[in-house]
Amino acid sequence: MKLRPEEISSIIRQQIEKYEVQVEVSDVGTVIYIGDGVARVYGLEDCMYAELLEFPGGVLGMALNLEEDNIGCVILGPYTHIKEGDVVKRTGRIASVPAGNPLIGRVINPVGVPLDGKGPINSDKFRPIEKIAPGVIFRQPVDTPLQTGIKAVDGMIPIGRGQRELILGDRQTGKTAIAVDAIINQKGQDCICIYVAVGQKSSTVANVIQKFQEHGAMDHTIVVSATASDPSPLLYIAPFAGAAIAEEFMDEGKDVLIVYDDLSKQAAAYRELSLLLRRPPGREAYPGDVFNLHSRLLERSAKLHPDYGGGSLTALPVIETQQGDVSAYIPTNVISITDGQIILEPDLFYAGVRPAVNVGLSVSRVGGKAQRKAMRQVAGRLRLDLAQYRELAAFAQFGSDLDKATLARLNRGERLVELLKQDQFVPMPLEEQVVSIYSGVNGYLDDLPPDKVRDFETDFLKFMRAQQAGLLETIKRDMEIKPDTEGKLKNAIEEFKKGFKMQYGLA
Ligand code: ATP
Ligand code: MG
Repeated sequence: MKLRPEEISSIIRQQIEKYEVQVEVSDVGTVIYIGDGVARVYGLEDCMYAELLEFPGGVLGMALNLEEDNIGCVILGPYTHIKEGDVVKRTGRIASVPAGNPLIGRVINPVGVPLDGKGPINSDKFRPIEKIAPGVIFRQPVDTPLQTGIKAVDGMIPIGRGQRELILGDRQTGKTAIAVDAIINQKGQDCICIYVAVGQKSSTVANVIQKFQEHGAMDHTIVVSATASDPSPLLYIAPFAGAAIAEEFMDEGKDVLIVYDDLSKQAAAYRELSLLLRRPPGREAYPGDVFNLHSRLLERSAKLHPDYGGGSLTALPVIETQQGDVSAYIPTNVISITDGQIILEPDLFYAGVRPAVNVGLSVSRVGGKAQRKAMRQVAGRLRLDLAQYRELAAFAQFGSDLDKATLARLNRGERLVELLKQDQFVPMPLEEQVVSIYSGVNGYLDDLPPDKVRDFETDFLKFMRAQQAGLLETIKRDMEIKPDTEGKLKNAIEEFKKGFKMQYGLA
């Protein structure tokens, strides 16, 4: 390292000067190193952690390393014009984002700059992006379901308001699709949604926003976007910014759903800036506090006690795995933090089972308590039938003479797998999911060819909506299948099935 006497002497000189006029000098510092999006600044003794610093040209930075004689900070914008010796000013503000109702329907970046060309955001509220999660006294157990509108999820991996459910899978296995459907399904459900896009292509994000608009979901949604071309500090703070925006609504007693898509990219961005700040690398070169990074973010999801407004913040973090390796560092970390995971498998996806949920490995550790009774009545059987199917299917590949009971189970399982297939952007209301699964677990599909199952479902639901709307309404209202409702439902299915078989010549 080359020593530059003039710099040292100027620093010494400054320090001598500062000795006399302490107050004035302590609020500005000088850049002593700049490069790769990080800077070291000398002379900001009173700087706070995560404080925003102003560089020449109005570019903002965030202080992350408070060291003995200098400050390591990341720069949240273009930095090529910044030189050694430039003046850095303290702003006295911790990194924060605008919050509140004016944000709904908007697309912003993690520091609150609008990206949708709809003009400035008229919000006078700001919230710091980092906040300690609510403690146990403020919370209550998860007890209300958050319907995603996806049969496979609501039926077998139910999510409750205030829960954190990880969506895990390789690239292009439909992770975003599940999150987007869950957001679209919140339309008219009194739930504000926040979609945080981290490190994705701009075109992908634009696509998601367009889908929200097409399905009328933008009216209850906020998009926080830091794309792959943004500097890594923005990717790092994006999930925290989203959480801060969400907490504002939660504190008002509202229900909020937040999607972090995806946290593996945030971890990579954090690794990048930690290495540049010369923090020591650990496993897979991630810094030692990458677990804390995700746990302090996800702990902010909560179901608040009624005394504190009763709001909730449900989180759906997304993690991308490599070659289905769920035991890599970041996936295991986040699995251990969350209350369950939805595991998506490429094999299922390519076989046409979409959503490609692996029902054996996916779990929801708290949502079961929040499931509506009607769904519980049908979903218990569904889980059991599918578990038996998986077990037998592995063996059935080898043997040919199977006994009758085994064949019946394989038969049932095959049809249930068909029944759980669901297209994108068609979330289903609870009562329709219930009658559809009811028909499957009670054997009404067993004598149909598997490739007719989806037709059966579509037509059956049309029939129910047109001719048995009262029955659907009853299930929706009671939230359970009462004995006399069940009788009517059986009759309705039988009546429809006769017509269906006739129509396709299956009788
Ligand atoms: P990436 O790793 O790139 O983020 P991803 O795991 O988020 O991918 P998606 O973008 O959600 O995956 O989906 C990949 C493709 O699969 C998309 O083209 C999407 O339209 C399609 N797809 C996802 N879910 C379904 C579904 N249920 N039915 C039909 N197609 C689907
Ligand atoms: Mg995706």
